[in-house]
Amino acid sequence: MAKSYETELPLKAFGWAGTDTSGTLSPFNFSRRENGDDDVTLKILFCGVCHSDLHTLKNDWGFTTYPVVPGHEIVGVVTKIGNNVKNFKVGDKVGVGVMVESCQTCENCQQDLENYCPKLVFTYNSPYNGTRTYGGYSDFVVVHQRYVLQFPANLPLDAGAPLLCAGITVYSPMKYYGMTEPGKHLGVAGLGGLGHVAIKFGKAFGLKVTVISTTPNKKSEAIERLGADSFIVSNDPEQMKAATGTIDYIIDTISADHSVLPLLGLLKLNGKLVTVGLPSKPLEVPVFPLVGGRKLIGGSNFGGIKETQEMLDFCAKHNITADIELIKMDQINTAMERLSKADVKYRFVIDVGNSFSSL
Ligand code: NAP
Ligand code: ZN
Repeated sequence: MAKSYETELPLKAFGWAGTDTSGTLSPFNFSRRENGDDDVTLKILFCGVCHSDLHTLKNDWGFTTYPVVPGHEIVGVVTKIGNNVKNFKVGDKVGVGVMVESCQTCENCQQDLENYCPKLVFTYNSPYNGTRTYGGYSDFVVVHQRYVLQFPANLPLDAGAPLLCAGITVYSPMKYYGMTEPGKHLGVAGLGGLGHVAIKFGKAFGLKVTVISTTPNKKSEAIERLGADSFIVSNDPEQMKAATGTIDYIIDTISADHSVLPLLGLLKLNGKLVTVGLPSKPLEVPVFPLVGGRKLIGGSNFGGIKETQEMLDFCAKHNITADIELIKMDQINTAMERLSKADVKYRFVIDVGNSFSSL
């Protein structure tokens, strides 16, 4: 008989899981492995709520295995280290992002691009040694040391947590695709968790930043609080027309199915559109505006561990954190409901450390 989630591994763990496509979560007892020689165990303090968690809960991408414990913007304190662990000690504040294991030998892993390893193990919803991985909506996690990040001392743990996915997911393509030349014009499509951090990186790189949004009432905050230079309402044809051919690069963080044609129209000659959003339907790519303007469409997924550490250190230097709404674990279902309506300013973070009475 198959063992239960509570007993298949030696350590008792507790979290909140989704069990069907409704998008709601409920308390869940499960188990985790013992801390091995190369492992770091962390008591989870905070975990950001990424739209990928919601896509996974609802099985938008068709590969969710239930029950699923989401959460891949994890900040915690080290409670145990294995014999081979030299870079972390008990009491360190650390982070864990989107991945917890890769093959470590392929070309991508060897170039510090573990996030593109064909054998990548995601922090949750991945098969792992006959069991499954479970994410950060839980009391603790055991992770191979290679996938653990030092959390800079001057970054707040709660507002810093979203950097582990939202932050690296916009930082990495901005670096790779050369979207960092001071004075150039960056468009940020979708003002949510990823988008609002992209504004902050854009300003830190010296760019002019324009938000392209479906939500007019985000305008004043985008400009006054987040530092954007201008704001376009994407479903206002007049505003879109006025901005035609004015933007050098766009980072598309939109979570829902949408057309890229209007975005391509905003780009100048040689403009770049990089999508990091993961709507479930394929994008339709119109070739005429691409060919006629020597434009480029690219994609990018989060980032390798080395670059994630670099990004955290960059954020510490430039005081970049997420703007968050801190919630307790039992408020997660309301938060998910609001996230599905683009109603969050701009990232929910779960105060995991103060949510479970048993801790
Ligand atoms: P989020 O906080 O929900 O933000 C997404 C934003 O998209 C919304 O705030 C909204 O902005 C806009 N939007 C939503 N529905 C829309 C629609 N129907 N038409 C146009 N715009 C719409 O989500 P997030 O956590 O930032 O994640 C964004 C996307 O990136 C998700 O698909 C997520 O899965 C993906 N992601 C990818 C990676 C990766 O590695 N590539 C990593 C993390 C997340 P406005 O209100 O401004 O219109
Ligand atoms: Zn994420």
